[in-house]
Amino acid sequence: MKPPRSLAIVGGGTAGWMAACLLQAAWGDACTITLIEDPDTPTIGVGEGSTPLLKRFFSRLGLCESDWMPACDATYKAGILFDGWSASEPDYFHPFFSALDLNTGDAFFHQADRRRRGAAVDARPADYFVAAQVAELGLAAAPANALPFEVDYGYHFDAGKLSALLRRHACGRGVRYRPVKLAAVHTDDQRITGLALADGTECKADFYLDCTGFRSLLLQQGLGVGFHPYTDALLNDAAVVLQDSVPLPGLPARTRSTALTAGWAWQIPLQQRTGYGYVYSRRFCAPDQAAAELRAHAGVGADHPVRHLQFPVGRVHQHWQGNCLAVGLSQGFVEPLEATALMLVQSTIELFIQAREVASFNAHINRLFDGVRDYIVGHYLLAGRNEPYWQAARDTRCASEALRALLTRWDQGQDLHSLLAGPLGSVYMRPSWYVLLAGLGRFPRVQCADNSVGDSARHQCEQLARAHFSDHRRWLAAQR
Ligand SMILES: Cc1cc2nc3c(=O)[nH]c(=O)nc-3n(C[C@H](O)[C@H](O)[C@H](O)COP(=O)(O)OP(=O)(O)OC[C@H]3O[C@@H](n4cnc5c(N)ncnc54)[C@H](O)[C@@H]3O)c2cc1C
Repeated sequence: MKPPRSLAIVGGGTAGWMAACLLQAAWGDACTITLIEDPDTPTIGVGEGSTPLLKRFFSRLGLCESDWMPACDATYKAGILFDGWSASEPDYFHPFFSALDLNTGDAFFHQADRRRRGAAVDARPADYFVAAQVAELGLAAAPANALPFEVDYGYHFDAGKLSALLRRHACGRGVRYRPVKLAAVHTDDQRITGLALADGTECKADFYLDCTGFRSLLLQQGLGVGFHPYTDALLNDAAVVLQDSVPLPGLPARTRSTALTAGWAWQIPLQQRTGYGYVYSRRFCAPDQAAAELRAHAGVGADHPVRHLQFPVGRVHQHWQGNCLAVGLSQGFVEPLEATALMLVQSTIELFIQAREVASFNAHINRLFDGVRDYIVGHYLLAGRNEPYWQAARDTRCASEALRALLTRWDQGQDLHSLLAGPLGSVYMRPSWYVLLAGLGRFPRVQCADNSVGDSARHQCEQLARAHFSDHRRWLAAQR
């Protein structure tokens, strides 16, 4: 993509500032970037967990962890602990993987394959991956000493503080900030010709980024690009969130995702506080009921302040149309079970910088969104709870054909390789799918499974964790 001479970004949430930072880093002085934000329209203000891709974002900006983590109250994330989801297992851990797992990971695949073919062996993912031990032992997910390979890990952070930090970074490198409301979008033949601003001025640019959140003022409202909902496959459409000023003891480097009556709740450990949110379906749970259930789950009082949110799930048909690209919630949202939204933001911008052709770019981003959707839907199809919400969420008729084929092959003990080489594997690859299927106990019933291989793998992982990772809280304190 040849840089446009001028770019107007509308919206100053995490998506707008991530885009400003990455595009400024990529294009430098070749492009004048202006970010327009209505100071009276708040950002969504949630989004506190990441995938490992965010590491690359900061390195592209030339920021090391001690430059940004203390300012954003950030902690490390080794993966996600799912509890209460399965009928047969109390919990399972979806780790971020690394070369430290090579031996034990192979043992996991082997055990899981034997088990799905009926052998009485155990295949609990947490036994086979170092990240699970890192989280359990209260260690930082970043290795304490240099290793000859990358170790994948993500972060938790305060979303508001991250936006503020990115804004300072972008503005310090020449991005212009205009705190003014967008009043109207002028279009002609599927292109934006200018933006009318509430202060009576007009903004004209060669290219426009729609980062206006769920409103999608430029792409969906201005250019009329259609929305492809995921509501047939995903029931959740609301969340209630709260902050607890008490940080979690031991500061475990993991998000906890607990299944509740009509959805699931996250627990996110930050350095100075803990974030909670209950993502649920309004069809099965009233907002007051959800708030009460979340407060009880978080162990706070009945008058503890909460915030309610609603969201559409799905994606636009085209993310890039004419001279406009939507980034962030304006391009779509898959519910936050695997904390993938900022990963999709980053991927959209990185692919845009390299893009040669609009149609293939749009098809690629659609595959990423659909790939995330399928993996999230998988959690619900395999969950073992029996409340009405969970029964409805298990309805396989709404799953994509590829996902249904994957379940059939898994159940029949067949190889998954060719399926995961297609769209189903566009975001989540074999280790994640195996962890999901094994973790939620999609196996024939056996009596008294032998876990000698798992015990020995767990011991190895624990030794590796203790050898290569430091205490989480002490490691973060050293960054200050
Ligand atoms: C319940 C929930 C949990 C989530 N959890 C995660 C998570 O764990 N991990 C993750 O990666 N993501 C998560 N997300 C998604 C994440 O919050 C968003 O992807 C991220 O915050 C980016 O949002 P955004 O910048 O697109 O939109 P917003 O934050 O909504 O920003 C929109 C911007 O547009 C501006 N604007 C709006 N109208 C106008 C106007 N007329 N003129 C000028 N400016 C205007 C606003 O002022 C604001 O600056 C979650 C989302 C939800 C709903």
